[in-house]
Amino acid sequence: MLFHVSDDESSDETANNVGSLLLQLQGLDTASDQARHRKANLAERDHLNAVATTVVEWERRCTALAAQIENSEREIALAEQRSTEIDASRRRLQDQMKTVIAPREAEALQHEIATLDEERSALDEGTLLKMEEQSAAETELSSLRAQEGALRQEASSATSALAEVEASIDAGLTELSTSRAQLVASLPAALVSRYEHVRAKLGVAAAMLAGSRCEGCHLDLSPAEVDEVRRAPADALPDCPQCGRLLVR
Ligand SMILES: [Zn+2]
Repeated sequence: MLFHVSDDESSDETANNVGSLLLQLQGLDTASDQARHRKANLAERDHLNAVATTVVEWERRCTALAAQIENSEREIALAEQRSTEIDASRRRLQDQMKTVIAPREAEALQHEIATLDEERSALDEGTLLKMEEQSAAETELSSLRAQEGALRQEASSATSALAEVEASIDAGLTELSTSRAQLVASLPAALVSRYEHVRAKLGVAAAMLAGSRCEGCHLDLSPAEVDEVRRAPADALPDCPQCGRLLVR
């Protein structure tokens, strides 16, 4: 298929000029595609995501440790309360022992005291473990809290770094878009529309014919195809018979 650049009386110069503008348009679009691809795959975003994940994990661990410490404190307080009760009961039983005469009654009291002693000893053991756990949790929590400043700073730097590189790419994209609008205004509307159609399908719509090779698909045209392209009117942009891109001679 041939695309005629203009209905007016055309010259080689017109076609060459349009071809060159079309390649410039292609250059701008390729640059925009690359900028958008770069923006979508920024190392700065990966870094920010990694830092954000670290912050979330840090917060989760701090919350879990604080809850664990609170729970230990409550359990230790309950154990202490129960120990006080046991001690009071034990004193009461020992006072009773002083007044008991019957050996069976004394034996029963001694058994009760022994049971209380066992419970007291188990409570002490449990409390000791809880206190060790609490102390370990407090040490870990205080070490985590010491990291907070550096962590928040890192998150803030990562956020700024991403925003900065995104803004710079956006500024480049705006410039490309302005240049593109100017270029499009200088090209025939029908040619731009054909270019857009091919670009939507192939990404790259315009390519140079270098010797017998299409620089779009990097395939060689047969001598007959090259001949046909060369014999096309000067004001026409033929398609590459292999890939369908607009061939600029
Ligand atoms: Zn081609």
